[in-house]
Parts: sequence; C-alpha cells; structure tokens
Amino acid sequence: MKDTLAPSLAKIDVTALKGVGSQLAAKLAKINIHTLQDILFHLPLRYMDRTRITPIGSVQPNSDVVIEGEIRGSDIVFGRRRSLMCRVQDGTGVITLRFFHFSGAQKNNLTQGARIRCYGEARRGSSGLELYHPEYQLVETAQALPLEQRLTPVYPALEGLTQQRLRSLSEQVLGLLHSDNMPDLLPPPWLNQVYRTSLVDVLNFLHHPPAEASFTQLLDGVHPYQQRLALEELVAHQMSMLRAREQLQSMLAPVLPEPTLLRQKFEQRLSFQLTAAQQRVASDIAADLNKPYPMLRLVQGDVGSGKTVVAALAALHAVAQGRQVAVMAPTEILAQQHRNSFTAWLEPLGIQVGWLTGRQSQTLRRQQLADIASGESQVVIGTHALFQAEVEFADLGLAIIDEQHRFGVHQRLALKEKSAAGYCAHQLIMTATPIPRTLAMSAYADLDCSVIDELPPGRTPVTTVAISQDRRVEVIERVRSACLEGRQAYWVCTLIEESEVLQASAAEEIEQSLQLLLPELKISLIHGRMKPAEKEATMQAFKAGDIQLLVATTVIEVGVDVANASLMIIENPERLGLAQLHQLRGRVGRGQAQSHCVLLYGTQLSDNGRQRLQAMREHADGFAIAEIDLKLRGPGEVLGSRQTGDIRFRIADLQRDSDLLPEVKLLAQRLMAEQPEAVRPLIDRWLFNVESYVTV
Ligand code: ADP
Ligand code: MG
Repeated sequence: MKDTLAPSLAKIDVTALKGVGSQLAAKLAKINIHTLQDILFHLPLRYMDRTRITPIGSVQPNSDVVIEGEIRGSDIVFGRRRSLMCRVQDGTGVITLRFFHFSGAQKNNLTQGARIRCYGEARRGSSGLELYHPEYQLVETAQALPLEQRLTPVYPALEGLTQQRLRSLSEQVLGLLHSDNMPDLLPPPWLNQVYRTSLVDVLNFLHHPPAEASFTQLLDGVHPYQQRLALEELVAHQMSMLRAREQLQSMLAPVLPEPTLLRQKFEQRLSFQLTAAQQRVASDIAADLNKPYPMLRLVQGDVGSGKTVVAALAALHAVAQGRQVAVMAPTEILAQQHRNSFTAWLEPLGIQVGWLTGRQSQTLRRQQLADIASGESQVVIGTHALFQAEVEFADLGLAIIDEQHRFGVHQRLALKEKSAAGYCAHQLIMTATPIPRTLAMSAYADLDCSVIDELPPGRTPVTTVAISQDRRVEVIERVRSACLEGRQAYWVCTLIEESEVLQASAAEEIEQSLQLLLPELKISLIHGRMKPAEKEATMQAFKAGDIQLLVATTVIEVGVDVANASLMIIENPERLGLAQLHQLRGRVGRGQAQSHCVLLYGTQLSDNGRQRLQAMREHADGFAIAEIDLKLRGPGEVLGSRQTGDIRFRIADLQRDSDLLPEVKLLAQRLMAEQPEAVRPLIDRWLFNVESYVTV
C-alpha cells in the first residue's frame, strides 16, 4: 500500500509547476486555483474542434474553425483602431485575419506566399469574413502539420491568463495524474454503471476529449463523465452539511417539554383557532424541543400561512423552563412587527419581551442589554444586532430566525457562543420562500423541514391580472375607486438597480405623479432610505387607515401585514423574480374582501417575462410558483445568493443535476456510515472554502 503515500495533487501548490512564479500564481488564485488539483477541477467551458481543416469557402460566421491557406498579403490599416490585416486564401475562398495588437516581427513573418494554419472564431467584418486574433502557425511547405487528435478545451479565463497558458498547465498536471494522487474516494461499485469510470480517466477525458465525443452533451454539462463529477461534488456538499448537523447535534441542549398550562392560556387568548397545518408543525417542534440536543428545524410556509404564532408557541416551551428566546428578523420593519405580535400575545401572560436593534439610543440599548444579560427579558426580538458579540444572554434556550436565509451552516454553529455554558440553543428557522423539495434536500441538508401548507380560513385568493403600461390611466382609475370605497392599496415601484438611492428617487417621482392624478387620496411613500422611525410611522398610519395609497419600493416585500389593503399594483413586474412577486402579492388578500393584484408590465416584454407573468396569473400556491421559477430561471435565482449563501459549486448545477439528488443523499449517508475515513478528504477536495466548515 505504499503507493497511496504519493502526495495528493491537492497538497501540491501550483508554483511547483514549470513556469509558474508568484505572479502567475496570484492570477490563478483569482479564479480559485491554488493547487494542482484545482487546475484539474478547472474544467473547460466548451471545446473547439481542431481535428479537421475547414475549406475557407465553407466557413460559417460565428463558428470556431481551423483553416489553412496561403498568405496573399498583409497591410497595416489605420481605421478607428490601427490593425494588421492579413488575407489568406485557399482553393475555395479568401478570409482576413485581423490583429489589433501585433509586433513588427509578427508583421514581417506574415509574408506573402507563406503557408499558414489558423484557429479562431470567424465573424463578419468590414472586409467580409474575418478571424480576430486567431492563434496561428506558419507551415513549412515540405511537411504537413499534424492536426489535433482530440477536442481542444476552452477554459474559463481571466485577463492576462491565456487559453494557451491554461492548456499547458492542465497538460502538465495531466502528465502527473495518477490514481495514487487522485484516488477514487467514492467507491466505484456503489455508483450507477454509467458513472463508474475512475476519476483519473474522467479528468483525462474532460480536458481533451476524443474527436468523436458528443459536443452538445459536453456543452450542456450532461456528458456522463461531467455528471460523474457533479455527483461527487454534490455528495461532498451534502456530507459537509450533514457533518455540521452531526456536530451541532452532538452538543447538549436544554430539554423543553410541552408547557401545557401556559399553552392553554396562550391559545385561549388568541382571536383565532390554529389551522391543522399550524398544529402539525407545532407538534414537530414540540417533539424536537423535548430532546436533549439542539433542534435544527426549518419551517416553510407561504406568506400569510401564520408562521409567527407557531414561533410564539415554540417560545413558550423555553420560557416555561426559565430559558430565554431570541427572535431575529432580517429588517427593522419586520422585527418591529414581530415585537408587536409577541408583545400582544406574551405580555398578558406575564412574559417580558425585550427589544434590540442596531439603531437604538445608547441609553435604551444599555438597558436592554442589561435585561438580556440578567434574564429579565425572557423573549428578545431584534435584528442581526441580537447576535453581536456584546449581547450576552443569561440563558438562551431557543433561537428563532425569521426570513433569514443568510443564516448559514457556520452561523448556526456560532450560536453555541450565545448559549448557556455547555449548551447549544435550539434553532427554529422560518422562511416564506417555498423551496422545491429537491432543492431543499440539497441546500438545507442540515435541517429538518416542516411545511405549513394551509392558509388560515376566510382568505379569498387574490385575483391577478396583467395589464400593459399603455392602460396605466385605467389602472389609476381603479385605484381611485377602490380607495374611495374604503379599501387601501399598494403601488409597488420596481427598479433593476440594486441602489436604494435610485429606487427611492424613482418611487418618489411616481408618488408625486400619482398625487397629481389622484388629489382626493391620502398618498404616502415608503422606501429603504427612510429612517426606521419614519418607516415605522408610515406603516402604522397605513395600518390605521390614515393613508389610502402607499407607494413603496420592494421594502414591503416580506411580512408586513395590513388586512384592509386589498389592491396591489406592481409596476414593471417583469423586472422581478417569481418568488419576489409572490412575496409582494402576499401583502394583499389578508382580510375578508376580495383582493386584486395588477401586474402593470412594460410594453417590451420578453418571452420569459411573459411566461412569468402568466405563472403569476395562474397560480396562487407558492410551491407551484417556485417550481416554475426553477424551470424558468434556475436554482441560483430561486434560492438567490441570499439563500444559497455559502454554497458554491465548481461543476454541479442544482437545476440541471436535480435528478442526481436522491442518489446524492444515499451516497452521502452510506459513505459517512461505511467509509468515514473518506469523508474529510472528499469534502476537502471539493469545497472552496473549507475553513468555514471546520469543526467547533
Ligand atoms: P407569515 O406566515 O406570513 O409570517 P403571519 O404569521 O404574519 O404570516 O400571519 C398572517 C396573519 O394571519 C396574521 O395577522 C396572523 O395573526 C393571522 N393568523 C395566523 N394564524 C391564523 C389562524 N389560524 N387563523 C386566522 N388567522 C391567523
Ligand atoms: Mg412572517
């Protein structure tokens, strides 16, 4: 077995290669290449076929070609940019090579009558077909230049890092590649027949496939060898999450049994009955909390499904045992809303509700911090500020995290720091973003999942229509009559730019124009640039009915609850993703009245945009919409960078490879059970940011 002592390619730095100094190493580091293994996992984006020469006469524009012919002449042309133009002819036609950067020696080499072979992409230029900056070789007339035997890889590159350079690096490393330094960590017999090829063969193939390999399969990333790698990568990610979960659950958590009496008192005071779905999820949570290790549960529930009251029920478990609860919301507005609900529900039961945000006055903050540290505050509501270092809980037993997708694996681990000595708090994570099951399996492998799949009774589904901006006047009329009948409305302004400044100013303009057109209405504006106190005051005024039409940026997206608002206009909805539209629309339809959502789309609508609006018209269920979003836009968009957080794949693509996921799950579990020694190396092999997954 001494062969296995060969140093893994993952352990050898790129500078060990010929011609790689510190400068090149720094460039490679920018594309996450540090080791020899990284070079091999930097796989081609696409391939070029240089295995045959195309007659110049049959070259198609926008295709990669190899041509060979005789130079008819070279000139320096002074157009908008100085360029060297070189005409090449074979028996079938003429093509022009164009160079913007060139040396004198180069010009002298390209002499009339010389034979040349060029590789490049043909485009239509001012002189007919042109090859811009082709790679080329002069051909000695006496001997024919051999053609490539295999497809030529094109790598994801970076300025100053040429394809030739990347190719020569991968060739060098392939020369060293051996099953000793790149072992198969997933036992081949466990794999489906089509994926059983060894990693060494797979990498050799993908860096220079034989000429007959399927171009389209490779381009789409669905070649069995690519899938074999994607499978392994997904297994690595899955295991890293399961590991984090194991670590967390190896810690102790306070046992929080069902607080029967307190719960009875709580439910008696509620103005409604829990839905069956709420009760089911509450009992999932109760079962978790009754165990001596941390709960790790994700509750998914569509907007308006009533997650807050389920969270409050969970809080009662901790309070009844004398432990504290932290409730974290991603924005000030949402935190405030939770504060209102929790205060209204819990204070009559004699439970102290604390409040901590980043924007409190020093005095207030100091007081709150003291109450948290002494245990006086039993339930503390707040924003991210809750998890700052200076916040010390007397005895944190449960952390509830609402709509907080960035709360990834390592933050979950870090919660230990906030918990009582020797303990890690139970964790309840709530999201209104429905996540298709296959994605959830992968993205949240470290969490148990419960779904509130039922809305409280008495809600009438929102009717959704799509209307073009051409008919804006009609829409404005509709707002007028709804408001005059005593309803309230939202007018949501969208902007593609992330900038809050631009969003705010666009919303301001719209508010002013609506004010002119609707002078009889009380109109107000809310956007992300306003001070929290102003936003809060505006929301309160809207809730109280003092504002009839609220012009808003997408800040109202999550959570804000006004039952009398039954009309929502969304300007240019085509700019938003389906998940976001669904969230926005969830702001209406919260009361008894029939609610409407008008998607006021721009006149130039893409096909994809049209399909998305249609999905919004046809579906009310967030999960159905998420599935469509997944089909139309891919998981990066569905989960958003917010949600994928720390997941970055080299090769796998959750959407394209979603059919692998069930197998991924089984393989990950089996490897952890049967070959635990392979787990760490496999995780290290694939994850970019291994430090974030270190053990606590
Ligand atoms: P979300 O799941 O979007 O966070 P909320 O918890 O804010 O939803 O609940 C939305 C509204 O529905 C709130 O006004 C809440 O009081 C109310 N609600 C929650 N559960 C029920 C129920 N079982 N019956 C009637 N109303 C309910
Ligand atoms: Mg909510």
